[in-house]
Amino acid sequence: MHNRRVLVLTGAGVSAESGIPTFRGKDGYWRNLDPIKLATAEAFARDPELVWQWYRERRHTIRRAQPNAAHEAIANLAQCADEFLLVTQNVDDLHERAGLAKAEMVQIHGDIFVTKCSRCDFEHEHEQDQNGAPRCTKCGALMRPGVIWFGEPLPARETERVENYLQRDSCGVVIVAGTTATFGYIIDWALRASRRGGELIEINPEETPLSRFATRLVREPAAIALPRLVDELM
Ligand SMILES: [Zn+2]
Repeated sequence: MHNRRVLVLTGAGVSAESGIPTFRGKDGYWRNLDPIKLATAEAFARDPELVWQWYRERRHTIRRAQPNAAHEAIANLAQCADEFLLVTQNVDDLHERAGLAKAEMVQIHGDIFVTKCSRCDFEHEHEQDQNGAPRCTKCGALMRPGVIWFGEPLPARETERVENYLQRDSCGVVIVAGTTATFGYIIDWALRASRRGGELIEINPEETPLSRFATRLVREPAAIALPRLVDELM
């Protein structure tokens, strides 16, 4: 690598290869309910216990899952880069369990293992899952999972970390893996990071809105393509 400053963006496709169902398509359905409708503030207001039950099952699935070759390749790449940032849409902890430091990653859609108050700023991590919908010990309001639901803004603190990384310098390598890039900010960040002639590599079995901007397209699952790519880059 000539410019060893790296940005990696990952989405649900990377976790799917560890057996974590994506929201889209039949696999994501839970008790015949569409996750795209469950992961909303409206669904939580209507039936918090139902939404909590679904998140508890997802937490359970994630705890049993293992990081795959894509997670490991990304952690290896971070080791040899001069500067590195991962921005992931995934709320699981598989990147971290593969060895990536928290300081080198931004979970832009939140962290499923955080439980936060729906009213005040109280939150905690990795508590014992209880039944029903938990209440805040500070203010008594309902606690909710620490994830960003559909229709909610991205967390300001995390967005700022990405912006700071992009503003400081451009990147020699930008990798976008396992995301359909349907959110505009993914394309925006990928393009801005690679703006001074950096490589923009897309790894996804299917075409996405980002594809036409990529300098290299790899039409394979991330767990197959990433180890090979990282070997080549190192
Ligand atoms: Zn509270």
